[in-house]
Amino acid sequence: MQVQEVFRSWQGEGPNAGCRALFIRFAGCPVKCEWCDTVRAWDPKKAMRMTVLDIADVVDSSKIIKYGGRIVFTGGEPAVIKSKVWRELILRLVAMENTYPGMKLYGEVETAGIRWEPIWAWSFFDTINVSPKLKWYEQKGKSYLRVIQKFVRAGANLKFVVGDDKDFNFVQEVVNATFLRPSKVWIMPRGTTMKEIRQSMKYVIALAKLRGFCISDRMQIVYKIK
Ligand code: SF4
Repeated sequence: MQVQEVFRSWQGEGPNAGCRALFIRFAGCPVKCEWCDTVRAWDPKKAMRMTVLDIADVVDSSKIIKYGGRIVFTGGEPAVIKSKVWRELILRLVAMENTYPGMKLYGEVETAGIRWEPIWAWSFFDTINVSPKLKWYEQKGKSYLRVIQKFVRAGANLKFVVGDDKDFNFVQEVVNATFLRPSKVWIMPRGTTMKEIRQSMKYVIALAKLRGFCISDRMQIVYKIK
């Protein structure tokens, strides 16, 4: 697997915002949004190569299982990793978890939902955050909505970055297609600086009121926490 970085931080956005976690950021993303805040993770050639055992070692030495912690798989795009490799990694982590009686490792994934694999329905993942991207929808059309529907049926939350009316129309289209209840939908301000995020937040709050959606700050950008 190509891994751009491994770090301890707090989840900066979405339903688990504020939770301490170990982050594993995979490299590679075919979507390439103009406003992406992790452009550095686009190119797998600039990333570290890590095996399943390497990742398991990092997780073990971080002691997050001992303290009942959370691991967030992010990107780039975690869905570019082959399901066979995911299967091997999850089985390894669950086996490790079993060596700490009574302790649990909470698995969370952040994905644009570009590819569905049954692995995402495994109970290892207590939180799946799908952040649908308008750019991908413009390329893939309704087939992308069908993939997102599968994630939603597996219990995923939807998380959208919103900066203008076009973005919000896309939010409504995806939510209507998936029949997801508003309490599972987060909208967040677009921007790569604190100033841009703060400006977009007022707009996000006004739109969230219309449909009863949840809102989220993006603390990793606003406060540059890490
Ligand atoms: S899908 Fe996510 S990682 Fe990929 S380009 Fe868009 S914002 Fe960046």
